Amino acid sequence: MEKRTDVLVIGGGPAGVVSAVTAKKYYPEKDVLVMKDIENGVIPCGIPYMFASLKNPEDNKFGNASLEKNGIDIVIDKAIKINKEEKFVKTAKNDKYFYKKLILAVGSTPINLPIKGIDKKRVYPIYKELGYLKSVVDDIKKCKKVLVIGGGFIGVEFADELSKIEGLSVTLVETLPHLLANSFDPEFFLMAEERLKEKGVEILTSTQVEEIVGDEIVEKVRFRGGEERDIDAVILGVGSKPNIELAVDAGLEVGRAKGILVDEYGRVSLDPDIFAIGDCSCKKDFYTRKAIPVMLASTATAEARIAGANLYQIKVVRENKGTIAIYSTYIDGLVLGSAGLTENTALKEGFEIIIGTEDGVDKHPGTLPGTSQGKVKLIFSKQSGIILGGQVSCGMSCAQAINIIGVAIQKRMSATELETLQIATHPYLTSAPTMYPIILAAQNACSNMRV
Ligand SMILES: Cc1cc2nc3c(=O)[nH]c(=O)nc-3n(C[C@H](O)[C@H](O)[C@H](O)COP(=O)(O)OP(=O)(O)OC[C@H]3O[C@@H](n4cnc5c(N)ncnc54)[C@H](O)[C@@H]3O)c2cc1C
Repeated sequence: MEKRTDVLVIGGGPAGVVSAVTAKKYYPEKDVLVMKDIENGVIPCGIPYMFASLKNPEDNKFGNASLEKNGIDIVIDKAIKINKEEKFVKTAKNDKYFYKKLILAVGSTPINLPIKGIDKKRVYPIYKELGYLKSVVDDIKKCKKVLVIGGGFIGVEFADELSKIEGLSVTLVETLPHLLANSFDPEFFLMAEERLKEKGVEILTSTQVEEIVGDEIVEKVRFRGGEERDIDAVILGVGSKPNIELAVDAGLEVGRAKGILVDEYGRVSLDPDIFAIGDCSCKKDFYTRKAIPVMLASTATAEARIAGANLYQIKVVRENKGTIAIYSTYIDGLVLGSAGLTENTALKEGFEIIIGTEDGVDKHPGTLPGTSQGKVKLIFSKQSGIILGGQVSCGMSCAQAINIIGVAIQKRMSATELETLQIATHPYLTSAPTMYPIILAAQNACSNMRV
């Protein structure tokens, strides 16, 4: 069969869906078609919560409502080849889809760790597919001891969530000396470690799994150094690699962090009618312009909005000139957020910096029921006073604090601008205007600059 469409989006994850909806909003007269190779996806950020917090794993299904509501066609098929000269995509069902504009939103696949025995049964990579994850949830609930490999935010969130399952003991393994060490400075990642330990999670840092042992099914793991541990199941929370095979096969360029190389509007380098967005595309750091392996749904959807709007003309000028790697995570009521450069990375990259910090509470007076303690750390360029990054820890009510910092980074705000920020406050909802932690941290940085 041959089909023609104006806009063909390959991939039905956050990037694909948002780019299709945006394209339809900016170009309502164009036909938009989303091709996806799995019928039932999941909301990726909700995956850890399918194990205990959600009553039914099905509640995390990523439905088609927004596509259907916007008159976007959907086809379940796998794209296997792009013919960019004749502008069509060939599929696994042997159909041809001709396009005017093509968006590659093919995402990423879990990294296959080079560990002996990794292919044994009950070793689970995190595929974003509902049927698969439902069976993983069922299996894990029958286990007594689970090992999570990877101390980034995905592994941490899994460990926290799995520790809610009664009778299941959880061990989290990380090769680096600390959890979350790539996106937080010590004062924050130590809080995460503390909170997980309080929940009964065993944390093994500076530890490497060398072999997964068992006949067909995992029975134990062997760490480098020889120590062994009995285990019923392993969750791999070690990150993903961009899906670039289609692009490489079509002769498109790939960047240093292994994603498809694109410009600020998501256009690939060698074809004005092909765009690549989300996990499959190459990201550049906001301040250093270095290629960085950031894979976040929030970044993916920001890129999708830019590409969707700019398919036929540059309608939305991209002011964000890079990726700020902004995210928050949650561990048993503790919210941690990070955006931009950490102190550690800024120093490694050669920035001369000034730090501003402030501890505070998220309600006022701090004696109100439900008040929690928080911490803000802001990193500024010493001479120019421009913000480079920030981290927060807080309770549930101030989870948006990191997003204020994210906006400040994208707008390249100075410490003085942050010190004089106009904000809304309310006793139940925020810190006091007299003691607002982001403002006081900026003030602290300003006085450190004068020293
Ligand atoms: C456990 C977990 C928790 C996470 N939590 C967060 C979070 O809290 N916050 C956050 O910002 N990010 C989070 N992420 C990261 C986030 O999931 C990804 O950044 C996001 O899914 C990227 O979206 P995408 O659309 O680019 O790719 P994907 O979500 O990978 O979607 C790509 C889609 O394309 C389909 N596809 C691939 N190849 C083809 C083909 N040839 N033909 C047709 N279809 C194809 C795939 O099947 C898939 O459905 C989390 C990830 C995981 C695994």
